[in-house]
Amino acid sequence: MSKRPPLLSVDDALEQILVDVQPLAAEPVALTHALGRVLAAPLAAKRTQPPFPASAMDGYAVRHADLFEGAALTCVGEAAAGHAFSGAINAGECVRIFTGAPVPSGADTILIQENARANGTKITVLEAAERGRYVRPAGLDFAEGDEGLKAGTVLSPADISLAAAMDHPRLPVRRKPRIAVISTGDELVEPGQERRDDQIVSSNNYGIQAMIEDFGGEPMDIGIVKDTLSALESAFDAAADADIIITLGGASVGDHDLVHHALGQRGVSTAFWKLAMRPGKPMMFGTRRRSDGGHQRFMGLPGNPVSSLVCAIVFLKPLVRALVGIPAHAVFEDALLDKAVPANDQREEYMRARLVERDGQTWVSPFDRQDSSILSLMATADCLMRRPAHGPKMNVGEPCQIIRLR
Ligand code: AMP
Ligand code: MG
Repeated sequence: MSKRPPLLSVDDALEQILVDVQPLAAEPVALTHALGRVLAAPLAAKRTQPPFPASAMDGYAVRHADLFEGAALTCVGEAAAGHAFSGAINAGECVRIFTGAPVPSGADTILIQENARANGTKITVLEAAERGRYVRPAGLDFAEGDEGLKAGTVLSPADISLAAAMDHPRLPVRRKPRIAVISTGDELVEPGQERRDDQIVSSNNYGIQAMIEDFGGEPMDIGIVKDTLSALESAFDAAADADIIITLGGASVGDHDLVHHALGQRGVSTAFWKLAMRPGKPMMFGTRRRSDGGHQRFMGLPGNPVSSLVCAIVFLKPLVRALVGIPAHAVFEDALLDKAVPANDQREEYMRARLVERDGQTWVSPFDRQDSSILSLMATADCLMRRPAHGPKMNVGEPCQIIRLR
């Protein structure tokens, strides 16, 4: 007689998964590989930008005292970006200057070329300007030592430009968790391969790996593994240096003991088995110490394609984000029901649904068909609508919670 363990709530499962999770160590990455990575330490400017007062326009660098309509100035040289004028400007003199060039000493204002007439080295002022016009003072953007980027920043393109401008060729970021994906099942064949009539194409692992990349992890595809103890054990060994091992399938009754047994053989203590969740009832989580002293986590996701994707969104995403040091944030958004939903049983449900914006509100319509094997509906869904465990019937116009999928 097998004992039925009680169903665990989604919130309790998530709490168990996230307990004691510390961000992974920092590693340096080149600027060209920094997009979306999480800064592990604050980044201070190693230089001042601009490092000198710089011209913002093409024109003439002048002394403001000389700048009045009709004034005649003598042009004594030229300053261009990367080619400073080495001398100083005296009374009645100016220097031809271009955008980005250092403003020569003695000058304090740029007379734009549209407001000047040139005749050889004789420059006539057509229109005056206030002192300092079109001069970018040194340090306008940032000064050496300024903290330009905070620890925990998810690096955007503009952040990367700023880091480069602050003179950092490499950035300290959180290491991406390596996440091994093991597809289990005698029936599975890779897409594009020959197969028998009783076989199916393995799809989950590809969606899960794409999600891992999207969440900020580094997927490692261990491939398809037969439903045997030795095959599973070898797969776990191949994933020995992963931060997280994910199995897909093999978690329902029958297969169930196989993954459990293989995990036990490899020193993983399993934290839970059955969730009060739909889709995604059969799910496992466990941990073990790696031989290098690191902490390895194990997540056994359901085999049904939709279940595995939904479980990855609900459980794997927060874990990956915690490992890369992104603070926890609300996953749910508010919406209004556009379609009545019947009362629910003890399993919290994540219904595939469509969104429409109407009257300044977000309205959600769950699909009629919610079978956890139907990938085509998951692919057209805009969101998951959370239907609480034991929730009463919900009517059109009632508030509900959603997770956006795109
Ligand atoms: P299991 O949890 O192994 O009993 O699998 C449940 C269902 O999901 C079965 O119909 C499997 O054939 C299917 N399944 C398991 N793994 C995959 C996979 N990698 N790709 C597509 N379907 C899968
Ligand atoms: Mg199976």
